[in-house]
Amino acid sequence: MTDTLTGLSNRKVFDQTLTNLIRQKHEKNIDFCLIIMDIDHFKKINDKYGHLVGDRVLKQLAHQTTRKIRQTDVAARYGGEEFGILLPKTYIDQAKQVAESIRHSIGQINMRKTDTGEVIGNITASFGVAQYHTSESETDLIGRADRAMYAAKQKGRNRTVSSVAQAPPIKSVSDA
Ligand code: GH3
Ligand code: MG
Ligand code: MG
Repeated sequence: MTDTLTGLSNRKVFDQTLTNLIRQKHEKNIDFCLIIMDIDHFKKINDKYGHLVGDRVLKQLAHQTTRKIRQTDVAARYGGEEFGILLPKTYIDQAKQVAESIRHSIGQINMRKTDTGEVIGNITASFGVAQYHTSESETDLIGRADRAMYAAKQKGRNRTVSSVAQAPPIKSVSDA
């Protein structure tokens, strides 16, 4: 159930939670959001300070994330240095605020190399946020959050971008 390095939920729990949240939206109209967070230039952190320091950064990031979310939210290690956070009963503006508060707390991580005391600075992450839209599949939602996260990278990293759901096309009278 948990990712051994970070103590966050694993991918399986993430997938199950997403399925449940989609069902709850369809059955009870309960809204939810997804945040995808990806560490910026993580390869450089590994290259500069070593893989073990990289692992410590992942743990710290998970710790800061957990501090900023509710107990009912599910934070998972989605891939190597990529995290997915599911927020039940949440609208896009609230989810964006959560992403921003995680982003700020990551900026305050103050780590040093244990052997040399060298400061490991400049740990940042990029965030994509999306609110589930009724007509979407699981992959549609993940795709939108992912594209928002990549847009954040392209705009210069260390920022949050929200995805605007496309409303389903309105049928005109001539289509009917
Ligand atoms: P970007 O800002 O575009 O996301 O750049 P990036 O360097 O973070 O992205 P890229 O996908 O090029 O590299 C991801 C790196 O994450 C490469 C891989 O070695 C590292 N990584 C993945 N999982 C782990 C892990 O468990 N521990 C450590 N230390 N590094 C990991
Ligand atoms: Mg990255
Ligand atoms: Mg990545």
